[in-house]
Amino acid sequence: MQINTRFNIGQELYVCTDIAAKQNQCSICHGYGKVTIKYESFICPKCQGASAHQPKEYKPEKIRVHKIRTSASTGGNVSVKYTYFDDMGKKRNIAESKNLLFATQEEAEARCNELNKEVRDNGNR
Ligand SMILES: [Zn+2]
Repeated sequence: MQINTRFNIGQELYVCTDIAAKQNQCSICHGYGKVTIKYESFICPKCQGASAHQPKEYKPEKIRVHKIRTSASTGGNVSVKYTYFDDMGKKRNIAESKNLLFATQEEAEARCNELNKEVRDNGNR
């Protein structure tokens, strides 16, 4: 059988990521606004819980495809996953079906704007 992937290994792509939120994330509570000490939950002493209310903002990030994994099963389910290293050198996986990877910055920006609109519309959750 043959599985077609949208992109190739080594290809430069743009991924929509909420990197801005991650960079500003509190190092103690990792954006939860709370910490658990001995099974009890407390408001984070560093950010006073403010980290939990930080809005997500998607931005295009330029990446290079490091690895592609495909899997197929009976019933015609095919999944394609791309691996890349983010700007902090951390390995990340992203599924093609998430529709967050694009060949051009323009496409990625359009999709990011859509996602940011969704975040705003769903806000205050
Ligand atoms: Zn915190």
